[in-house]
Amino acid sequence: MSTTTRTAPGPGARLAGALAAATTDRLVLDLTGIEHGLAALRRELPGVHVRFALKACPADEVVTTLARAGAGADAAGPAEIEQALRCGVPADRVHYGNTVKSDRHIAAAHRLGVRLFATDSREDVAALAAHAPGARVFCRVATGGEGALWGLSHKFGCPPAQAAGVLELARDLGLVPSGLSVHVGSQQMTAGAWRTAVADLGEVLRALRHRGITLDHVNLGGGLPARGYLDRHGRRLDPPLDKIFAVLREGMDALRRAHGGALEFVVEPGRYLVADHGAVRAHVARLARRSGPDGTDRYWLYLSCGKFNGLYEMDALQYRLVFPGHPGGDTVPAVVAGPTCDSDDAYSHEAGSLVRVPRALASGDPVWVLSAGAYALSYTTRGFNGFPPLPCHTVTGGTDD
Ligand SMILES: *Cc1c(COP(=O)(O)O)cnc(C)c1O
Repeated sequence: MSTTTRTAPGPGARLAGALAAATTDRLVLDLTGIEHGLAALRRELPGVHVRFALKACPADEVVTTLARAGAGADAAGPAEIEQALRCGVPADRVHYGNTVKSDRHIAAAHRLGVRLFATDSREDVAALAAHAPGARVFCRVATGGEGALWGLSHKFGCPPAQAAGVLELARDLGLVPSGLSVHVGSQQMTAGAWRTAVADLGEVLRALRHRGITLDHVNLGGGLPARGYLDRHGRRLDPPLDKIFAVLREGMDALRRAHGGALEFVVEPGRYLVADHGAVRAHVARLARRSGPDGTDRYWLYLSCGKFNGLYEMDALQYRLVFPGHPGGDTVPAVVAGPTCDSDDAYSHEAGSLVRVPRALASGDPVWVLSAGAYALSYTTRGFNGFPPLPCHTVTGGTDD
């Protein structure tokens, strides 16, 4: 009934049904798929507490679904905290995971009932002591970000050798040193990144033991990769998830040993829980053949949505595309691009990055953009060039994918 541009699994039955029924553009989120993904994650990492990183998909329906299934929330400020509470996440399952916060935001979070805060500097610890007195804090330890599509290094975390000092200051100022965290970078493709992070965390736990500080948890962060992306040249990313989970399980055992006592584990996935359970129904604006500056002709497939209304990450990766209504038939290699007057609103232009698309595509034909559930809602602009944010629809149901 449809052709994909690559040999890769299509959307699940629920998503495919909703995409096929849509006659206008939209983001579709499969809530049942997200719930099953949470259950699968808990089977991989028995006993971990899951705190969904809200920014990856801040739709009330998603947060409510995850809250009902017992997940908490990793929030970056008072607005996300309010959303989590409104969607039924108890305050004791919400942590303020952003190391960047103003006095005002700390006080607001404290008023909302949040008692667990990330930190990575002495200045932030002092502000927490003043505006969230007595709160529990966990120190984010910096990582290098290698192996991830988005590294998240530099801006966050303190060097492992300084973490014990930060938590000691917290204790001296009346806060409760509670944990350590890392984030190995988003869409992390290597198990080795977690192995390195676990080794660093082990060092910090040993240093804390020396200083007589006992923590209650380690937060292994987000970064877990989605399965369904192609890289920017159109090759399947195929993340080594089995290996990653094995390293995390071994890491938890090693950290319990380094700590020398009971230790809880938290993960705060974003992308992993939602990316593959969301898809965009877009349409073709135009398939056009144009000459480039070097005189060579190239096809461009302009879609109704792109970087500024749902597909923000399209310049760093490729989403798989499905062209329903064009089974088989002639294809041509094309640069895929969004509708705006911005040249970054496109897949990579490099010769090796072109996507095979049906030659017969006509303006208005539907296009399904797969694995688009993560960061589509949060990165969308307020109608850049007048192209509006995609409306968000959800689907639930008993059909198993
Ligand atoms: C964004 C973020 C996450 C989620 O990252 P993913 O790569 O989407 O899993 C988790 N924790 C923190 C602190 C974040 O900022």
